[in-house]
Amino acid sequence: MQAGHHECSPEALKAGMKKAGIKPDLQEQILRLSEFHTYPAPGVLIGAFMVDLALELLGVSMDRKLYAICETPKCLPDALQILARCTTGNNRLRVVPIGKFAITLNTPTESETADAVRVYVDLQKLKKFPTIDLWYANSPAYDRHTMKGRLRDEIFRAGRDILSFENVRVPVIKKKKWTSVTCPCCWETVPDYLFQGDRCGACGSMRYYKRI
Ligand SMILES: [Zn+2]
Repeated sequence: MQAGHHECSPEALKAGMKKAGIKPDLQEQILRLSEFHTYPAPGVLIGAFMVDLALELLGVSMDRKLYAICETPKCLPDALQILARCTTGNNRLRVVPIGKFAITLNTPTESETADAVRVYVDLQKLKKFPTIDLWYANSPAYDRHTMKGRLRDEIFRAGRDILSFENVRVPVIKKKKWTSVTCPCCWETVPDYLFQGDRCGACGSMRYYKRI
């Protein structure tokens, strides 16, 4: 996090959070999160309050093993990675690019489905926070050069007041058993369930590079 470019040093961030009366442990998580994300983007700040609320609704602390689904690839996955320790790499974070600012979180279960809590940004509640409302709607009236400080203060002041939640049921995705297969095009190996007909994804629909 560099002061200047994003015009928000960790000190300024701390002062803003303190002024808004954010609880100290959440302040600490928000600082970690901002550093991980490389700057305190509005989306990660809102995400911190979302995960914090979800943990409370589940009645668990952040050291519990949890599973998350995130409905946008923007910002929000980082809040889940830092505050709920659901990461892409540990396979406990699934990103579904629906384009909504919403998450679900659940504890592990042996069942086929899990009872989860879904936390989302509530458009009705945003009406009380005009700057967040403009930013969230991607309105041309939101000017990030002049309004981002005000936006951040409003996010801190709002905290959970822009969020709602519901209880939902989600399918549990079990680990697949797999064997290694060799692709006849590139001679590299992949798990069998990722084979696309007679070749690997990189030689099929997921090709993303050309040898040079
Ligand atoms: Zn191949």
